[in-house]
Amino acid sequence: MDKSKANQAIKCTVSSCQNHSIGKEYCALDSIQVGTHETNPTVDQCTDCQSFKLQA
Ligand code: SF4
Repeated sequence: MDKSKANQAIKCTVSSCQNHSIGKEYCALDSIQVGTHETNPTVDQCTDCQSFKLQA
C-alpha cells in the first residue's frame, strides 16, 4: 500500500492508522469498509472504519 497516495473521496484524520496518507488528511486506500458494532446504530459514534489498522 502506497502511503503517498491520497484518495480525495475518503477524507480521514486518523493518522495513527497504517492506511493514512502521509502528511494529508486522506486515506491512501482505493476503498474502505464501513460497518457498525451496534445492533441498531443511531449516531455517528456507532459506526466504524473496519479497514483501520494500527500503525506498526
Ligand atoms: S483505513 Fe479508515 S481509519 Fe485508516 S486511514 Fe483509511 S479511512 Fe482512515
